[in-house]
Amino acid sequence: MALEELYREVILDHYRHPRHKGTLSNADVHAEGLNPSCGDEFSLDLAIADGVITDVATQGQGCSISQASGSMMADAIKGKTLEEVGELAHKFRVMMSIDEGENPVDPARPGAVLGDLEALQGVRKFPVRIKCADLPWTTLADALSQAES
Ligand code: ZN
Repeated sequence: MALEELYREVILDHYRHPRHKGTLSNADVHAEGLNPSCGDEFSLDLAIADGVITDVATQGQGCSISQASGSMMADAIKGKTLEEVGELAHKFRVMMSIDEGENPVDPARPGAVLGDLEALQGVRKFPVRIKCADLPWTTLADALSQAES
């Protein structure tokens, strides 16, 4: 299977079967995001204890890129420390060419931990869709800034 086809399958799987969908009754923070250019919506509940994201729930609607990115993000951040989540968010934004840095999924740099999120790197070729992929991450940044204050 060609890599692009594999990536498309991974994105569609997350879109059709979003992980951690719903709300948390014990949420410590809640954030909502909107991508007006595409009409994507995303909301995020986090439970945080001792600097660790112990539980995650998301809701949203919109295009497959935005919703798949949210599902992958929820999978990737659950159980991680806030520091690890910050590192992951940075790697994601470098991969998508939003932030400066060496591409963490550059094959010359093995050991990247983005996992399924790597499937979104093809979106870089479509600048208007980068905002779709980034929506869950801007929502996460909002939630984490609430958690800090
Ligand atoms: Zn979108």
